[in-house]
Amino acid sequence: MLAVPPVLKLRPDHLDRIAVIYVRQSTLLQVRENIGSTARQYDLVRRATDLGWTRAQIQVVDQDQGQSGSSSVGRDGFQWLVAEVGLGHVGAVLSLEVSRLARSCSDWYRLLEICALTDTLVIDDEAIYDPGSHNDRLLLGFKGTMSEAELHWLHQRLQGGKRAKAEQGQLRFRLPIGLVYDPVGKIVLDPDEAVQEAVRLVFTLFEQFGSALAVVSHFAQQQLRFPTRWWGGKRADELIWDRLTHERVLNILHSPLYAGAYVYGRTKFRRHALPGEEPRIKGRTRRVNQEDWPVVHLDAHPGYISWEQFLRNQRQLDDNRTWRAEEHRGAVREGPSLLQGIVLCGSCGRRMSIRYQRNGSLLMYECHQIHAQLAGKTCQTMRGDRIDEAVVHCFLEAIQPAHLEVALSALDQLEARARQVDQQWQRQIERAQYEADLACRRYRAVDPENRLVARSLEREWNEKLAQVEQLQREYAIVPKQAALSLSATQREQIRKLADDLPALWHAPTTTFAERKQLLRWLIKDVTLSKRGNVIDVAIRWQTEALTHLAIPRHKKSWEMRQTNRQVVSRVRELAPTHTDTQIAVVLNEEGEVAGTGGTFTASKVEWIRYAYSIPLDCPERPSASATGQRGDGRYSAKAAAELLNVDVSTIAQWCKEGKLEFVRSTAHGPRWITLTPQIIKALRKPTRRQWKQREHCK
Ligand SMILES: [Zn+2]
Repeated sequence: MLAVPPVLKLRPDHLDRIAVIYVRQSTLLQVRENIGSTARQYDLVRRATDLGWTRAQIQVVDQDQGQSGSSSVGRDGFQWLVAEVGLGHVGAVLSLEVSRLARSCSDWYRLLEICALTDTLVIDDEAIYDPGSHNDRLLLGFKGTMSEAELHWLHQRLQGGKRAKAEQGQLRFRLPIGLVYDPVGKIVLDPDEAVQEAVRLVFTLFEQFGSALAVVSHFAQQQLRFPTRWWGGKRADELIWDRLTHERVLNILHSPLYAGAYVYGRTKFRRHALPGEEPRIKGRTRRVNQEDWPVVHLDAHPGYISWEQFLRNQRQLDDNRTWRAEEHRGAVREGPSLLQGIVLCGSCGRRMSIRYQRNGSLLMYECHQIHAQLAGKTCQTMRGDRIDEAVVHCFLEAIQPAHLEVALSALDQLEARARQVDQQWQRQIERAQYEADLACRRYRAVDPENRLVARSLEREWNEKLAQVEQLQREYAIVPKQAALSLSATQREQIRKLADDLPALWHAPTTTFAERKQLLRWLIKDVTLSKRGNVIDVAIRWQTEALTHLAIPRHKKSWEMRQTNRQVVSRVRELAPTHTDTQIAVVLNEEGEVAGTGGTFTASKVEWIRYAYSIPLDCPERPSASATGQRGDGRYSAKAAAELLNVDVSTIAQWCKEGKLEFVRSTAHGPRWITLTPQIIKALRKPTRRQWKQREHCK
């Protein structure tokens, strides 16, 4: 392969067009530190004039200074260069190392492609390349690939070095408030007590309320401020006291540093392209799951909480989220359903939701996530009133032995909190006073002749004094938590109250939210499952112990009207020998009540037989109506009259006289008469023929 001599590649038509010198450094730091290299790049101007371009034809592009090299997006100079080359305005592109023109391959090949089309040369301090020639293309492509590989190795080495340093616990980063580096570079608690106490208060309050927002609102109510340390610059390490925000509380609670752990790799930076006319690359920092943290050293330095408490806080925060209802309980809400957020479905294991029916008077627990998310069937639904009642009963029983401890720890917590709040105030005032004194000293130290300085120092002193006054005023009007610290008698009273927890529970002043919180302290979750006519309620306590309750299920409306089973079996018994009317009479006499209420009638009996498929007649037996005798052997008045050979009126007469035993279902209902063979023999009136025969025998 014969390389074309450089001079032959450069033709007069190249010299007619402009030459572009492309200067770039990757980062601002390189721009500052690597001045030598920049100067070398500017030297290319001389090389261009040596090759035959006039000074006026040479353009220098250095707009990219300080842009990172991985992609052309966001580098105006490079874009302009590509455009000019494309338009055929450029005779040659000069750069120190041609591979530097573009680090990423796609940009590099695009530029080479365009250079080849427009017959543009590429020149560095070693050679002249013609992208139109196959050999030069190959060489340039190879250089571009090498350059990219180099960038990759560089990145790997940097990351590896960082990681290795982190593994030894020596990588330094910005510390959260409350922790500082000591002079030898070790992490220690902030020496400022006010800062320490503010941080501690956040953890204490979260422990008590279990909600980050509650911590924020407590700070707001008590008008407490929270510190921030200025990072870098002229005001480095200066403290700024401002209102506490939700985001800060979350950051503090999520930071393992407060538990004394040295952790590297908690977040990851990822780039992604934003769609649009001009694609832009944006980066986003994401949290890495705790299990995936690459470097964790426990007990690496002093902290504010234990590692166990840190993990507990993470679980609580995780639990507080409501947007994935399936997995989390959510924070306590105001509604009257006591088990909100802690009810699980026994058949599919998902979290059950709450629905109020009949204008909110009827509480229902419903497992509808399959329905809501997958358009399937609602898993199960049940009335909540009895369930709540049973769980509360169980809870009140369970709390009996534990009540004193609960009450005492609540007392201690209240006191500790009141003390902490007061200390915070004292510190704030102390600090303001100190700053005012400092301003005063500074003012006194300055030469009075130096009026300008003296005046501004005096103003500062006045401002500081005003701040002290304002703080003292605010402190005076803040409701004194300290008033909560209890005397011995008050403690005794509260102990008594705790003894009577059921009364406390039912007191009208106790809100639903408070009751729910009480429940949640002891109960982790409640699983509901239907088993035939009972609901199985499994209560899982915080201690992981289980209690099972069986609650009779509420009858459905049709079940409430359903005929008693006993009645159905009686009908089945009577049916072979009785008519519907007779069965109705027997049932009424036996005191049974129809499902819909009231007495039985023939049509109701017929309905029961129809519903339970009970045939009326046994084919071998004569029907009851034909013999006039019913199942218990009693005879109707007509049948009795026939048997005794008398009139029906005579039967009635005998019944009244007590000669015959009978029953009737109602005061004026038909009589059913008991006839034994003896009675028949004694009372039967002989027929005329019998009578004649008897007369004849005599
Ligand atoms: Zn379910």
